[in-house]
Amino acid sequence: MNDTFNKKAVEECRNLVDGANNIVITTHRSPDGDAVGSSLALFHFLKKSGKMVELIVPDPYPDFYHWLPGHENVVVYIENKEKAEALIDEADLIFSLDYNVLSRTGAMQQKLESCGKKFILIDHHQQPGEYPTVLFSDTSASSTAEMVYELIESMGAKELIDTAIGACIYTGIMTDSGSFRFPNVSQKTHRIAAELIGVGVDHSQIHQLVYDNNLVQRLQLVGYALSEKLVVVDSCKAAYIILSREELARFNFQPGDTEGLVNYALSVKGVNMAAFVREGNNIVKFSFRSKGKFDVNAFARKYFNGGGHTNAAGGALELPIGEVEKILLDHIHTHCDEMDY
Ligand code: 5GP
Ligand code: MN
Repeated sequence: MNDTFNKKAVEECRNLVDGANNIVITTHRSPDGDAVGSSLALFHFLKKSGKMVELIVPDPYPDFYHWLPGHENVVVYIENKEKAEALIDEADLIFSLDYNVLSRTGAMQQKLESCGKKFILIDHHQQPGEYPTVLFSDTSASSTAEMVYELIESMGAKELIDTAIGACIYTGIMTDSGSFRFPNVSQKTHRIAAELIGVGVDHSQIHQLVYDNNLVQRLQLVGYALSEKLVVVDSCKAAYIILSREELARFNFQPGDTEGLVNYALSVKGVNMAAFVREGNNIVKFSFRSKGKFDVNAFARKYFNGGGHTNAAGGALELPIGEVEKILLDHIHTHCDEMDY
């Protein structure tokens, strides 16, 4: 029996929320569907419970999440640092959603580390930090959005879940579970999805809004990556795609354009570990995925300054993009036996 939302922790959470007037919700840098969906769901829930709530994200998220109810209220830290820092200073309580350590909040890290506020963490990544006063950590959950549903349920407030909260939760679950196909999907995940449809969430429309919203250039970038840049290391059952800034710029790259690209590499017959590497501003960003037992969380932690889950992880290094392929290949070869099972 999963004990994440035990009586004591839920009671502590309730007491902190009851005692707070101003609540700030935060999430990780490069926010994905679960980060934005879970945070906005909690935002609406706390507002409906009569609280003053603000949601601060470290940097912008893709356009295909802008339809989410409440998007217009989101404060982007790097675009509005003064306002964001004032809100953090005024906060009585801060929520950490969909991240396990403050270093995942990018530009916000220092401010959050030094603010001296109480934190409540809701997250499904491995090895959560020790900074929160209340910790809801469940590495078996499909998504943080699923956990927000469970928290609301544990607080006895399920009747507050309306189509706005429901759409945000559904988006987080759908995007983090690969549309309900990854191993972290459980009976509970489907039960929650069913209940959300029961309150009026339009699952088909949400899927279209997120996935059928491509500009032609994005599809051409995907086509280019697959036809020109996909490398398969047959001997190790690994595959990777590396894209430089110049290549991304050719297709007018926007945040989110390469989301899901790594899954194509993983879908190659026989491949058990896939990497997608993208050159960013002064940093190279890595995404890893695996099938079965190869632990990309450990791999990302050991070599790429990152982490995540057993089958989905990421990291970042400061190095020239031209040096990435050799390093990646070295590490793949070191772990070749573990990938080729
Ligand atoms: P993605 O490849 O979709 O960016 O991330 C996959 C998973 O790895 C997500 O659960 C994400 O939170 C985690 N992740 C991605 N990048 C990093 C990183 O730089 N550091 C850590 N610790 N986790 C990451
Ligand atoms: Mn997540």
